[in-house]
Amino acid sequence: MKNNYNFLVSGISEEIYDLTLKHLAQQYVQGATFCYNFERKEDVLNISLEFEINDEFVGLKCDFYDDYESKSIIKNKNRKELKRIVSKEIVKLFNKIFNYEAPWGVLTGIRPTKLFHMLYNQYRDIETVRNILKDDYLVTLPSINILESIFKTQIEAIPDVYNLNNDEVSIYIGIPFCPTKCAYCTFPAYQIKKNDSRMESFLDMLFKEIDLVFDVLIKKGKEVTTIYLGGGTPTSLSAIDLEKVLQKIYSKINSNKLREITVEAGRPDTIDIEKLEVLKKYNVNRISVNPQSFNNNTLRAIGRIHSVEETIDKYYLSRDYIDTINMDMIVGLPGETKIDIENTLENFGNLIPDNITVHALSFKRASHMTKNRTKYPVATGNEAEEMLDITKKWMKDNDYIPYYLYRQKNILANMENIGYSKKGHINLYNIIIMEEVQTIIGIGCGASSKIITKDNKIHNVLNPKDPVSYSNYTEQIDKKLNIMLEYL
Ligand code: SF4
Repeated sequence: MKNNYNFLVSGISEEIYDLTLKHLAQQYVQGATFCYNFERKEDVLNISLEFEINDEFVGLKCDFYDDYESKSIIKNKNRKELKRIVSKEIVKLFNKIFNYEAPWGVLTGIRPTKLFHMLYNQYRDIETVRNILKDDYLVTLPSINILESIFKTQIEAIPDVYNLNNDEVSIYIGIPFCPTKCAYCTFPAYQIKKNDSRMESFLDMLFKEIDLVFDVLIKKGKEVTTIYLGGGTPTSLSAIDLEKVLQKIYSKINSNKLREITVEAGRPDTIDIEKLEVLKKYNVNRISVNPQSFNNNTLRAIGRIHSVEETIDKYYLSRDYIDTINMDMIVGLPGETKIDIENTLENFGNLIPDNITVHALSFKRASHMTKNRTKYPVATGNEAEEMLDITKKWMKDNDYIPYYLYRQKNILANMENIGYSKKGHINLYNIIIMEEVQTIIGIGCGASSKIITKDNKIHNVLNPKDPVSYSNYTEQIDKKLNIMLEYL
């Protein structure tokens, strides 16, 4: 990967293609700029990109070549298809300029496996899907292989995956509290205080919202497939409040239909025996106990107040209560090198959690880390890629199967996040949310609802993020309930 490029673009509309160009370029270089007025910049490599789009073909040439290096015949001129063809020409050229084959080709979206499902539904033949991904989307062979493997694992885990949206929904509950805020976090996670007055009003509204949402679900005859308590860290609640929330949910559902209930207990410092007993009592199948790193210096640097030793202790404590334990790790945390990644994997080798989720560090705009980027030196793109490759190899060698994958914008080295699982421990909710195969109703702070209609259109509704606004949510909740009434 090289840095400091300025592309002088002509022949396409900035309004339509600027974002596409930027997203595609991120696969090769960080911070490239695009100018549409031939303005050359000092101290960077200026490269012209001349497009020609007419009724018959899309052509693209640059300074390095004196003829069209790439040219695609346009067969179908709808806007979406044209955009894919233009993207394909860009990727073909960038692959040559940077002498690097972008693993995801023209795919810039966060859900490449969803495309695999869509194509499979259309053609019902895996080989055809593979060829389309290779030829039309320029996805590389290793990426196609991982998509195929994830696709097959998902179908095996949820055989009725394409019928899930008929009579059932899944539920997400957002609990917006954490012991401290991690430096990279942009989730609704408010530092919990002793006798926090926000807690009572939050729980009041949460219970009200649960009542209102389930009134509609019952009216519409919808059962619940999976429930996910996230946030924040739901185990920041006291054992008593946690029990109240679970009790409330169970009072509304037909537990015979429920396939899975997950509770994020990501911060080891929030876990104790009392809470684990509550989780077991309500048949919670899966929790996360997230180390992120097994290096105490890193944990301190990113604002987590638990230690490596506490993570290990709480993991072993949880084993007696919960069937599936997930552990998250982040590749590319500030100051970390390959040695830290190997150390994390060595610890996983001792603990053998049922799920491991490997995230690449993401620089979300509103996070403390992004706003203070110089304070957090991170690995270069190449180093980060090497680290991710080490995790992939380790997972394979240790019988962890990839079962979901997603990409993010502004992620280190444009890498992907991958959820791995031991056989028999696959988390259904993660598949449902990633592949958008079922309506998810979000309840609580920052909870996002995705209401999928019968003709596969998605209506997104976002709840207020902070507990104070959420407490006054009563006034806007009708909007969500009306969408549910109309489309479920
Ligand atoms: S534990 Fe998770 S939700 Fe809480 S602050 Fe850290 S990243 Fe955010």
